[in-house]
Amino acid sequence: MSRRDALAQNLAAVRERIARACEQAGRDPGEVTLVVVTKTHPASDVELLADLGVTDVGENRHPEAADKQAEVAASGASLRWHFVGGLQTNKAGAVARYADVVHSVDRAKLARSLDRGAEAAGRTLRVLVQVDFDTTDPGRAGVPPADVQALADVIVGECPHLELGGVMTVAPLGQDPEPSFAHLREISADLVRTVPSATTISAGMSEDFEVAIRHGATHVRVGRSVLGQRPVLQ
Ligand SMILES: *Cc1c(COP(=O)(O)O)cnc(C)c1O
Repeated sequence: MSRRDALAQNLAAVRERIARACEQAGRDPGEVTLVVVTKTHPASDVELLADLGVTDVGENRHPEAADKQAEVAASGASLRWHFVGGLQTNKAGAVARYADVVHSVDRAKLARSLDRGAEAAGRTLRVLVQVDFDTTDPGRAGVPPADVQALADVIVGECPHLELGGVMTVAPLGQDPEPSFAHLREISADLVRTVPSATTISAGMSEDFEVAIRHGATHVRVGRSVLGQRPVLQ
């Protein structure tokens, strides 16, 4: 089977899973955006995905993401690029030039760096606050639930070139994702009361996106179910 046919088949299966999860949750599938996470896979795969109707792709590393975005743009494909990985402050300026949405904002310093980068690039960057529900591993990316509003206040109040889009999480490894996704939805509801446009809930990956859809996810980030196993573990 050609790579194109394999991707088309996987994509159809994922879209079917999304449709079924939406149906079970009484939601319109149009409310859920599929972000295909293409990290470690070549630009040629991204171009095939664009041709197969994918509108949103996710990457987690700079400069891999920058190189791929430039290569795909040169091919004429038009996509929204989501940066979903941990981000060092000194790379924020570069990411602000090509990302459309940054899902992984988890500290004020990073927000301010992205804001300066977006200003320098003459654009407005949509950002999500990454929330972490894992109390067992302090090294994980994301702010604890209690700190979401303070970071949101910095983004809204001090970062004119950022647009606060909502919240994101990665469910704790090896744990039932359900409580995290349920809690994220509550946090989102609180945030939307103060920032009505911050409606994005980015949650769910290959293994658990049905659960996330049940709990209101508007963006699911799916890698392996579309592209297959990644060449290196990350
Ligand atoms: C890699 C990655 C994904 C996709 O994970 P899969 O298990 O391949 O679906 C989603 N979100 C983030 C933040 C990632 O790094």
